[in-house]
Amino acid sequence: MPNSMTDPFGRTVSYLRVSVTDRCDFRCTYCMAENMTFLPKKELLTLEELDRLCTAFVNKGVRRLRLTGGEPLMRRGIMGFVRTLSRHLDSGKLDEITLTTNGSQLAKYADELADCGVRRINVSLDTLDAEKFAEITRRGRLGQVMEGIEAAKRAGIALKLNMVALKGFNEHEIEPMLRWAHGEGMDLTLIETMPMGEIDGDRNEQYLPVSRVRERLSETLTLNDIPYKTGGPATYVEVEETGGRLGFITPLTHNFCESCNRVRLTCTGTLFMCLGQDDAADLRAPLRASEGDELLNAAITEAISRKPKGHDFIIDRNNKGPAVARHMSMTGG
Ligand code: SAM
Ligand code: SF4
Repeated sequence: MPNSMTDPFGRTVSYLRVSVTDRCDFRCTYCMAENMTFLPKKELLTLEELDRLCTAFVNKGVRRLRLTGGEPLMRRGIMGFVRTLSRHLDSGKLDEITLTTNGSQLAKYADELADCGVRRINVSLDTLDAEKFAEITRRGRLGQVMEGIEAAKRAGIALKLNMVALKGFNEHEIEPMLRWAHGEGMDLTLIETMPMGEIDGDRNEQYLPVSRVRERLSETLTLNDIPYKTGGPATYVEVEETGGRLGFITPLTHNFCESCNRVRLTCTGTLFMCLGQDDAADLRAPLRASEGDELLNAAITEAISRKPKGHDFIIDRNNKGPAVARHMSMTGG
């Protein structure tokens, strides 16, 4: 009997990303428009329903869960949710629960997250300049995020920073960010902008190929390829001068699909089998149709059998619109 979490291309899905809310306290310019219409609250699955969904995936072989959003720590009751999920860490069914956060609420939750068994967190940070931070997030405060980072460190949580490389905005801050992050014992990953969802600006203007950043960094730093993997799509180098790790996520310049082990669940129970494709499976109906998990399990198996070979992202001058209509905050990156 084939493993029902293995797709037609032989990739076994072991990693589930869950966007627990589409809402966020920031409005990063590459991610959202200034005026966003969020889902009405009644459309959201309850946290109990999300737990049932996650548990179905865990029982089918998912070993890692990443909570994301929107801003995951903005969802009311989120810590109770993490606490409940942590039973799968205790039972050994799950290897890891982690999250991607903008850091604004980390000072409040870091200790409790550590207590629930969260060992690793990704924090998104695009600049160390307070004014530019306010500009790119439209409503964030750098100081608050820094306090969050400190609190997570004190709680013993390993941190990785995600920085979106943006032409004309932070391209000259990449090396200083790298030196600072590594000096503080944090890995850094550079991300290219992906054409997802309508934003107010033009993505062509923001797009900075990470391959070019790498070339530039190599002029002053020694970057050694290493086989390090975190279960995500980044490829890593070790920076000889700092001893730290630097990751590159290059969805547009490099095809990372052949080793993709991930699927993404939204807060309405829609499963996206690929970040860069519109095809999706509704898990809310089978979830709500019965108290048992038979229908749900069948729907998950069917969805995995439709996981596409790869994405169709492209940013070019003739292609002004987003490749996929939904915003990153729906599936959480
Ligand atoms: N709010 C949390 C945060 O910012 O970390 C979690 C959700 S956010 C959508 C996840 C990651 O996606 C962040 O690192 C963010 O910088 C990145 N992101 C958002 N929109 C993007 C886009 N269009 N292209 C590339 N990365 C994007
Ligand atoms: Fe919010 Fe994260 Fe999107 Fe920024 S990148 S607007 S913090 S969801």
